[in-house]
Amino acid sequence: MTKQKIIVVGAVAGGATSASQIRRLDPESDITVYEKDRHMSFANCGLPYYLGNVVASREQLLPMTPEKFKDKKNITVKLQHEVIAVDTEQQIVKVKDHTTDTIIEDHYDILVLSPGARARRLNFDVPHLFTLRNMEDTDAIENYITTHNVQRVLLIGAGYVSLELLENMYERGLSPTLVHRSEAINKLMDQDMNKAILSELDARNIPYRLNEEVTAIDGHTVTFKSGTVEDYDMIISGVGVQPNSEFLQSSGITMDDKGYIPVNERFQTNIPNVYAVGDIATNHYRHVDLPAHVPLAWGAHRGASVVAEQIAGNPDVVFEGFVGANIVKFFDYTLASTGVALTDLENFDYAMVEVENGTHAGYYPNNTSVHLRAYYDKQTRRLLRAAAVGQSGVDKRIDVLSMAMMHRATIDDLTAFEVAYAPPYSHPKDLINMLGYKARP
Ligand SMILES: Cc1cc2nc3c(=O)[nH]c(=O)nc-3n(C[C@H](O)[C@H](O)[C@H](O)COP(=O)(O)OP(=O)(O)OC[C@H]3O[C@@H](n4cnc5c(N)ncnc54)[C@H](O)[C@@H]3O)c2cc1C
Repeated sequence: MTKQKIIVVGAVAGGATSASQIRRLDPESDITVYEKDRHMSFANCGLPYYLGNVVASREQLLPMTPEKFKDKKNITVKLQHEVIAVDTEQQIVKVKDHTTDTIIEDHYDILVLSPGARARRLNFDVPHLFTLRNMEDTDAIENYITTHNVQRVLLIGAGYVSLELLENMYERGLSPTLVHRSEAINKLMDQDMNKAILSELDARNIPYRLNEEVTAIDGHTVTFKSGTVEDYDMIISGVGVQPNSEFLQSSGITMDDKGYIPVNERFQTNIPNVYAVGDIATNHYRHVDLPAHVPLAWGAHRGASVVAEQIAGNPDVVFEGFVGANIVKFFDYTLASTGVALTDLENFDYAMVEVENGTHAGYYPNNTSVHLRAYYDKQTRRLLRAAAVGQSGVDKRIDVLSMAMMHRATIDDLTAFEVAYAPPYSHPKDLINMLGYKARP
């Protein structure tokens, strides 16, 4: 293997994992990772749980430093180094070193892009309005809570990060309120199944208002579209993300109208020697012939692994596509889905089948109900999507159905799924089997 200069942009899920996987297969190459922020390889997904004091220490979220990466893997990570432009003809990146306020240039043979996305910000200029995407945001939120005697917290937006934050703020002993601009909360889920979220809020007397928007913030006083005026100690908004791809604008790398980068099954962009992984990349579904954008951690890690194989000269290791699996915990409930997005179903002549039953044998203690549904194509009978909500056993059903979709299973194949059964776990005829039986013509 010839020694190559590999540059990676972004040092968190997709970037640090790509660098590490490349080194695993290629001991020789010179690998440099540029990261614009102050931290590398932090556990994004753990941030809400750290703020809820579920994760005991900050260090648990930050397992890696540039020094450790250098020692263990001989990879150079430069923090506070922002790539500001890429010249894909000369194969050069232009980097702003924020520690010295200087600009440097660095040549690459191979470029791996994993710059992710950032939280959209609301247009209010007050010091107690936060978003949550990285360690700096987390530290700022934690610091504000502890130094300002925060009690009342307003959460704007009802995506999965806001929901996780709300739960963690509540468990920490604060008083959260949720507002969301429409009725469509937790958009990855079937909306009727999100009733569990509202009932969990009601059960704890946590105030929430849908079809509600913030129109003005004056000091700690917040005015809403409905005319309601309330005081909050702190506001955290979770109103979507935008891709960190402005620095690629003159690079010739193809982006879609939102700024995401379409890649092929090798994570190659349209430019030779330039790969893109993680949230920035759009790809395709595995079980149906449709484009997919699944900005979640699994895709970043899988992409990193495939890119490393490509760079190591193993072109046969390709990405077969997403099935779109996702899951969120909300107090006592778990909500999960897999398969195409709800909006993609319109591409199919589909049917839906559902069951609601105890997660395990009714006579065994602590049984709770699982609501499980699957969508399938009426002609091919292939599974398209599944969703589940309940207090336990949801993750298992959705993971099994993800695997089924991965193998392009039909709804009828579910009758033949052989479940590992004993009374504490399932039924001799599991909910997954029941979906198949119910869909019999
Ligand atoms: C609070 C929170 C909770 C989450 N929970 C889950 C979960 O439970 N399950 C799940 O699957 N996913 C979850 N995610 C999503 C998951 O973290 C992302 O899908 C994943 O981190 C994407 O990896 P990435 O490498 O594309 O982007 P990131 O991990 O965001 O890393 C991108 C890095 O690139 C850096 N960067 C950007 N532009 C430049 C530049 N020009 N130069 C240098 N560096 C740059 C950024 O500073 C950033 O550090 C969560 C995300 C958040 C924020």
